[in-house]
Parts: sequence; C-alpha cells; structure tokens
Amino acid sequence: MGQILKVLKGTKDILPQDINMWQFVEEKANKVFSSFGVKEIRTPIIEVTELFSRGVGDTTDIVNKEMYTFEKSERSITLRPENTAGVVRSYIENGMHRLPAPVKLWYHGPMFRYERPQAGRQRQFHQVGVEMFGIKQPAADAEIILMATDFLKSVGLNDLEVEINSLGCPKCRADFKEKLKAVIKPYLNNLCEDCQNRYEKNPLRLLDCKVPECQAIYAKKEIQEVIMSDFLCDECREHYKELKLYLDNLGIKYNENKLLVRGLDYYTRTVFEIKSNNLGSQNAVCGGGRYDNLVEQLGGEPTPAIGFAMGMERLISLLPQKESKKLDGYIVSNDSQEAFKLAQELRAHGLNIEFDLANKKFTKQLEKASKVANYALILGEDEIKSNQVSVKNLATGEQKAINREDCKNIEV
Ligand code: ATP
Ligand code: MG
Repeated sequence: MGQILKVLKGTKDILPQDINMWQFVEEKANKVFSSFGVKEIRTPIIEVTELFSRGVGDTTDIVNKEMYTFEKSERSITLRPENTAGVVRSYIENGMHRLPAPVKLWYHGPMFRYERPQAGRQRQFHQVGVEMFGIKQPAADAEIILMATDFLKSVGLNDLEVEINSLGCPKCRADFKEKLKAVIKPYLNNLCEDCQNRYEKNPLRLLDCKVPECQAIYAKKEIQEVIMSDFLCDECREHYKELKLYLDNLGIKYNENKLLVRGLDYYTRTVFEIKSNNLGSQNAVCGGGRYDNLVEQLGGEPTPAIGFAMGMERLISLLPQKESKKLDGYIVSNDSQEAFKLAQELRAHGLNIEFDLANKKFTKQLEKASKVANYALILGEDEIKSNQVSVKNLATGEQKAINREDCKNIEV
C-alpha cells in the first residue's frame, strides 16, 4: 500500500463543511464592492519575480524572506505573496489609465508566503482586497476605508478597530527618517538583528518591531518625541486632516497610531489597519494604504492609488459557524429511471436534488432523506401511475400527495 501523503505545512484544505463560510464572504464582497462600482479582476498566481522585488520592495520581509521563487526556462518566477503588484501590472499592461478615473478593482484568492506557520499565519492563505486608481484627493482614502468597514459589517463584524496614520510623502518622510535615525543611533548596538538591518534600509520599519528590548528603547523619551512629532508637509497634513473629517462625518470610529508604518515600502500618506481583539497576537484583519508612486515605479504613467487587503482566514475565524445547507429534496423511489427524470425536472427549476444511485431499500432511502434534505419526494408505483409525488416535510413529518408538476414549488 502506498504511503499516505499529507498537505504541506502551512497550507490547508478548505473542506466541504466549511466552504459555505467562504462562499458567504465572497458573495458579500461581490455585493458590497459592486455597490461602490468596483469591478472584479483575476490576475495570475505566478508572476515574474521582478514584479515583487520592484513592486513590493526589496527591503521588505516579504521579498527578503517570504517568497516562493523558482526558475523555469531561465526565468525567475514567483508565487504571488500579495495581489497589489499584480493588479498594478495589469492596470499598466492593459492601458487602464485611459479609462475614466477612478478605476476600481477588487480581487480575492490565494497568496503564498514562506513564513513560520502559527495561529493566523499560513504559507498559503487567502486575501480579498480592493485597489482604486487615479484619485489623489482624500475622498478616495475615505471611500476605501468605508468599503472595508461596510464589507466587514455586511459579514457581521461590527466591533473592529480602525487605526490610521499618515506616512507623508517621500519628501517630508526623508527628514523624519533622518531625525529618527539620529536619535536611535546611540542604541544601534542594542537593537535586534532585524532592526540593525532595517536601520539603514527602511528605518520606519523599526517602529513596528515586536522585540521587547527594541520596544523598550523606542519608548525612551527622546525617541518618542521624534516619533510623536508632526513631520508632515503642508499638503500631506491637509490631506490627512481632510481624511479624518470625512471619517468623522461618515461615523467611522478610528484611532490614530503613529507607530502604524505597515510592512511594505510603497505606501505614501494614508495607511490603515483594521484589528480585532478576538484574534490573539495576529490581530490584523485588514491592512491598506495609499501608494501614489507605485504605478510609475512599475513603468506606468504617474497615477495615484490606494487600496487594502484582508486576510480571509482571519476574517472567517471571527464569524459564527454556519450550518451547511441541506438539499431541497431527496427522491425516494425504487424506479431509478423515473427518479432521474424527476430529479432533472426539478434541478432545471433551480432545486438541489439527489436520489439513491445504489438500489438501496425504500426505508434506507427514507432514512438518508431525513438526514440530507428538507423534503423527501416519494415516487412509488402508485405515484408514478397517477403522475403524482408524495412530498414529506422532514422537519414536521407532514406528508401529502401533489401533482408532479407542482413539485417544483415545494417551499425551500
Ligand atoms: P502581518 O503583520 O500580520 O504579517 P502583513 O503586514 O504581512 O501582516 P499584509 O501584507 O498587509 O499583512 O496583508 C493583509 C492581511 O492579510 C493581514 O492583515 C492578514 O489578515 C492577512 N495575512 C498576511 N499574511 C498572512 C499569513 N501568512 N497568513 C494568513 N493571513 C495573512
Ligand atoms: Mg507579514
């Protein structure tokens, strides 16, 4: 006998008993995002590696440590670790900048990151996200955050915390980075290895280090003063102020978090996260932000853009379990030719129907019906002769004979 093979570490089957949660979330996403005029896009799961090293940024954990990369015909190919870069590539390649702005796109699907698997962290996981291109005004930021919170509400999550911050533009951020580096410099040797690397390459990332020793250093008064200082230039400050005004007027509650810097290099101005206290240490459901320079960086026309991505596993883990749906009807009959016919008539009317394919006894078929269906549709010799079906409501036990063509109207 062959050895039993197992699913790869950090990956999971989504089993039939759980699929209705996924379908529910995907349907809500389609409904809510469509209501904002967002169209779905599906990009390939594999892309050229350079898309991510240029698009996500080669100082990020994703590109440095987490990518699944392989060679094929002397090309370096990577399983997408996120979908923003792919959507931007497609936007440019398909000339979507010629469409009237904004171009609003949503996606959902699997992403791949070689991380240490733990609660809330897998190697193949799923994201649902939205990207909006062509609008630099803060109304776009507000609409994106509104879409995220509306979608979360639509699946039943109301008690999540929205955190926002502004990272400024490359200009005002450069000064801030220098100040931050200067004040941290005396402690450089005491920082963790990751922080020592980030210090030159991506100093903003120092702020979201989880190592307690580093956190203790960043909590020092002189460092906190720099972190908490207002470094935004006039335009960036105005943008951030207007965004907050929109959120206030929309009734979206938020906390401002100066430590929220996000992992990716491409963000400008607005960044945000949506968190749940019920998720333990991996508590972020949604991460997003503005990336006004990415389209140009990937070879497109300069185009402002903003978007978010949500982790679907984390989202679904917060929802109450849903019962799987039963069949509308299970046909109970010793005449499988007739059962096939009736099943096809009813399926054509949109009902979900099964019947016994293995010549089981009538009583066994009835037992099965009561487990899997809302109605038993009994098609005995008498019924076939009189062109009727005895319909048994399996919740109440009530049974009555009805004309065959009325069968399609069983209440479901
Ligand atoms: P984290 O700080 O949790 O690593 P991140 O900054 O890497 O998050 P993003 O790249 O912004 O996350 O992805 C958006 C969302 O996707 C996250 O908020 C989270 O819900 C989900 N996510 C990210 N990585 C994973 C993973 N390995 N497994 C499951 N979900 C994930
Ligand atoms: Mg991560």
